[in-house]
Amino acid sequence: MSRDLHVIVVGGGFAGVGCVRRLAKHDDVHVTLVDRHNYHQFQPLLYQVATSQLAPSDVGFSLRKLFHDNENVDVKLGEVAEVDAANHAVTTTDGQRYAGDALVLAAGSQPNFFRTPGAAEHAFPLYSLDDAERLRSRILGVFEDADRDPELLDQGALNFVVVGGGPTGVEMAGALADMIAETMTVEYRDLAVSAARIHIVDLGHTLLGPFSDSAHDYVAKVLGRKGVQMHLGVAVTEVGPGHVTLADGTTIRTRCVVWGGGIKAPPLAGAAGAPQGRGGRLDVLEDLSVDGIDGFYVVGDMANIPSPDGRTHPQLGSVALQSGAWAAANLLADADGKHRKAFHYKDKGIMAMIGRGAAIAEVGPHRHELHGVVAFSAWLGVHASLMSGVRTRIDAFVEWASDYFSDDRGPQVLDRSGAARIDWSDDPAPERVAAHI
Ligand SMILES: Cc1cc2nc3c(=O)[nH]c(=O)nc-3n(C[C@H](O)[C@H](O)[C@H](O)COP(=O)(O)OP(=O)(O)OC[C@H]3O[C@@H](n4cnc5c(N)ncnc54)[C@H](O)[C@@H]3O)c2cc1C
Repeated sequence: MSRDLHVIVVGGGFAGVGCVRRLAKHDDVHVTLVDRHNYHQFQPLLYQVATSQLAPSDVGFSLRKLFHDNENVDVKLGEVAEVDAANHAVTTTDGQRYAGDALVLAAGSQPNFFRTPGAAEHAFPLYSLDDAERLRSRILGVFEDADRDPELLDQGALNFVVVGGGPTGVEMAGALADMIAETMTVEYRDLAVSAARIHIVDLGHTLLGPFSDSAHDYVAKVLGRKGVQMHLGVAVTEVGPGHVTLADGTTIRTRCVVWGGGIKAPPLAGAAGAPQGRGGRLDVLEDLSVDGIDGFYVVGDMANIPSPDGRTHPQLGSVALQSGAWAAANLLADADGKHRKAFHYKDKGIMAMIGRGAAIAEVGPHRHELHGVVAFSAWLGVHASLMSGVRTRIDAFVEWASDYFSDDRGPQVLDRSGAARIDWSDDPAPERVAAHI
């Protein structure tokens, strides 16, 4: 019996790709994949693009190429603005309507600035390939400008502030410290690169909050050794064009604030007309469907997916990839008149690379803690498996990662798009502030 099923999937991230890959195996299923980009972006390595370790093309993969061999998959470029969940239809900003027998939303997240004044205008989020390229331009831009005019050092030209002490902030701070120590000192011989300072700020009292106490000590030790200054237990209260203020009265003069402070659901979640929970994400049932709407599934970062401990699964690439494939299996079960199954997540653990030569991982049901080369091997295994979800050849990735971890070679790619032209006009920090850095 032929299913003759047409599924609309919004979003070609880990969740969307996981879903389409599973559906594409069935000739009697037709898939329309809609994304605002015609490529998948491999977010775990965006900080490597921002710090010139990788070229953008190394972490962006063509969606059309990915499904080139699947005649039952159509890739459509479009920004979805409207969702008609009951009719399994979406409409893009240019008026295109795509309707099917089932709908899967997998539109990911967006940065959450937590209403911090000036953050949306002046900080650099790190969520997309565009973000990573803008940030890279800004980092290179401040070095180029300070090299031409060393007086800019007094304006904090080489101060970098990373907001958020989760994996994104920690990985970014570690990689930036390596980039400055290994490459900028060599490339900018006339500049007092030793004036560069990296600050990491987090409201929590530790970095890498979800990890164990000994992991907190390890990351603080590694970043401290790299010269990163930690401001913990303190909020960022304002981001200006040339400074950041903290709740303890500190002002840091800087033209480069990296925002790794949190994520929330994209606006599309609000357009779906379904219940939104924590972070604005759409609440789904254990089988990843939305209660009361037949043939409507939400997966990956965009969903609050219940976990057996009564909480929800974290926003991770492996959760996204697995939930996408699981929703596809449940959609097929719907079409075959079979029972759906509750999502079962195979936990790969949590991990972070803290710059070159240092990594931390907590793996297994008892969260066994690993450091150094062993942690890196766990990191490599998980990220290679994530990458194989979106790309067939991963040997170049494995080779690059091994070189990156073990070699002392600095960044190989130094280009500048000019996207971050810097306005150095005076930006007096607020007078009420006591300490200036
Ligand atoms: C900097 C960074 C580092 C990370 N590091 C790790 C890590 O080391 N390990 C790990 O497991 N996880 C990591 N994560 C988390 C992981 O990347 C996410 O959990 C995962 O990407 C979520 O997958 P997704 O498919 O739900 O969303 P996404 O990967 O964000 O994909 C969403 C897709 O939807 C598209 N889209 C969005 N809105 C629309 C719209 N309106 N119309 C059309 N298309 C739209 C986007 O273009 C995108 O292609 C990291 C995240 C970030 C930001």
